[in-house]
Amino acid sequence: MADFEVVEVNTDLLIIGGGMAACGAAVEAKYWAGDDIKVTLVDKAALERSGAVAQGLSAINTYIGMSGRAAPAVGEESGQHTPEKFVHYVRQDLMGIVREDLVYDVARHVDSSVHLFEKWGLPIWKTEDGKYVREGTWQIMINGESYKCIVAEAAKNALGEENIIERVFVVKLLLDEKVPNRIAGAVGFSVRENKFYYFKAKAIICVCGGAVHIFRPRSTGEGYGRAWYPPWNAGSTYSMMLEVGAPMVNMECRFVPARYKDGYGPVGAWFLLFKAYATNAFDENYVQTRKPDLEKYAPYGTTKPVPTCLRNHAMMLDMFEGKFPIFMRTEAAMQKILSENPKRAKHLEAEAWEDFLDMTVSQAVLWAAENVEPEKVKSEIMPSEPYLMGSHSGANGAWCCGPDDLMPEEYKADFPGGYNRMTTVEGLFTAGDGVGASAHKFSSGSHAEGRLAAKAAIKYILDHKDFEPSPRGSVEELKAQVYKPLKTFEENKNYTSDPNVNPNYIRPKGFVFRLNKIMDEYAGGIGWQYTTSEPALLRGLEKLQVLKEDADKLAAETLHELMRAWENYHRLLTAECHMRHLLYRKETRWPGYYYRSDYPDMDEQNWRKFVLSKLNPDTGEWEMFERPYVPLID
Ligand code: FAD
Repeated sequence: MADFEVVEVNTDLLIIGGGMAACGAAVEAKYWAGDDIKVTLVDKAALERSGAVAQGLSAINTYIGMSGRAAPAVGEESGQHTPEKFVHYVRQDLMGIVREDLVYDVARHVDSSVHLFEKWGLPIWKTEDGKYVREGTWQIMINGESYKCIVAEAAKNALGEENIIERVFVVKLLLDEKVPNRIAGAVGFSVRENKFYYFKAKAIICVCGGAVHIFRPRSTGEGYGRAWYPPWNAGSTYSMMLEVGAPMVNMECRFVPARYKDGYGPVGAWFLLFKAYATNAFDENYVQTRKPDLEKYAPYGTTKPVPTCLRNHAMMLDMFEGKFPIFMRTEAAMQKILSENPKRAKHLEAEAWEDFLDMTVSQAVLWAAENVEPEKVKSEIMPSEPYLMGSHSGANGAWCCGPDDLMPEEYKADFPGGYNRMTTVEGLFTAGDGVGASAHKFSSGSHAEGRLAAKAAIKYILDHKDFEPSPRGSVEELKAQVYKPLKTFEENKNYTSDPNVNPNYIRPKGFVFRLNKIMDEYAGGIGWQYTTSEPALLRGLEKLQVLKEDADKLAAETLHELMRAWENYHRLLTAECHMRHLLYRKETRWPGYYYRSDYPDMDEQNWRKFVLSKLNPDTGEWEMFERPYVPLID
């Protein structure tokens, strides 16, 4: 095996990840840190095009507009958008379970991140009187192909290129060996060079996004790898924080996006900006016809806007009855706009295509390949496989401290220091997809939350000036652990004539197929129409245990495959956490995201509360526990 140089990085604040939350954290941390506190950022990819916004976006989905810079949404007057209303909206969309203090905190800060984006050069659509064009009540339109490049450039300028380490995959966080429950460092490896990275840090912000390819995707064969969520976020945030003992919350509240079929193109602009509607194969508008089916989910099912999961539910009920395919009526929406304003024809066509070209180029390619002219024909949409994430319309993530002026008394004992967005592990912070029970942050809210976490992390470092990190485990042991899959491959590769089939190891590709199959069949994937039950989950957990044993035999031929191996390990732990949460919550709270066949109804009286999980870092045992729901606003 090759020699691997050890690169030791001593820093004060380590930001792990290079996405929206990380870039926000970088800018804010540097502001408060000045030149005395060292801030380092490490990303598995290249900052300019990494994370969920890598390809760009066509809309900023969270903008409150308290400064009056945005046009009012249709049917509303200027100034009607407030953090209180935003909390109400998010709570409604998440079927009554959100950390209202965290959501409020994002809402009151998010506009400033958007104003920074504009200052840094992001083109935001404007009305004739110079206001931001609203896509929907909380969203604004952008020319966002270069969104991530612009946000990354600001982060780079703030930290300095010498403090940004790219193409290093972080494998695990390290607790301190002297101070209990205290973060002290992390280890990772370069995916391009023979370099092992050993980080010592006084505080860490772990922001590696959510998790994709936990479940078997709809894309198979030549399309495998195409997913709605970026395939490069593999649950590192959740698994690494779990392994050091940080509790997770709402890990059962996964997200199933309904998107254009096969290309996973966004539907937001079509529903909100172009006012399109969707119908089943028999031209029935399922959101209308299925209204009575949503009544049993009152108050959420009877209030507008209809929650995302219930819109899925209405569509799925039709699909389960065989009334598919489901279509977005692009042709009807465009013809209506054109009949009102024929001069807009060219402009409208450009907007429709740009929506895809800004953020999901493959959907534009697919439309072109299938001769789709959206003004003439309807287009198929489909609920996708489930994803785990905390910043979009799912709410997975860590149990975190809220701001001291808003966090309910009932949670304060979990966070004695009161540092905003710190987990229960001392010095370990998160944001974006990493913070649980606080959905609908999207790109702008994740950036704003990264800034909030960074400000608190710098305060934490200043308040604990004397702390000298001494991470658990020797460098040699950690290095051996990280590179073990390379060794396993090298030692056993000649055992069989086909290196993909070997009794002594499993390659990452085979491993992810096995994980996907288990999750699909036992945890309510697409193959089982999103349905699971206690017996299925218990059987699935047994199967995951066997897979866990085999994880020890993951093998990698190259550094790139080594990354695939560790991604799968992160997926595995995230998947187990998800299953344990599905098992614990004895109701169907989010129909359209998943169904418990043994508890098919929502149980508002007994289950309007938070479910938490914790992995003991010393024993490896799981503990499930609860926290009460505490409302902040009416
Ligand atoms: P990300 O931005 O995804 O960043 C994660 C970072 O972690 C990446 O840099 C990645 O390289 C790094 N990383 C991962 N694992 C490791 C590891 N082990 N070691 C080191 N680094 C690692 N928001 C909007 O406002 N408008 C939209 O239209 C919109 N559309 C979306 C469409 C899609 C398909 C998706 C997935 C999201 C969309 N969002 C949108 C939401 C927005 O993209 C996310 O909310 C936001 O990017 C989350 O920020 P984050 O920093 O938590 O994660």
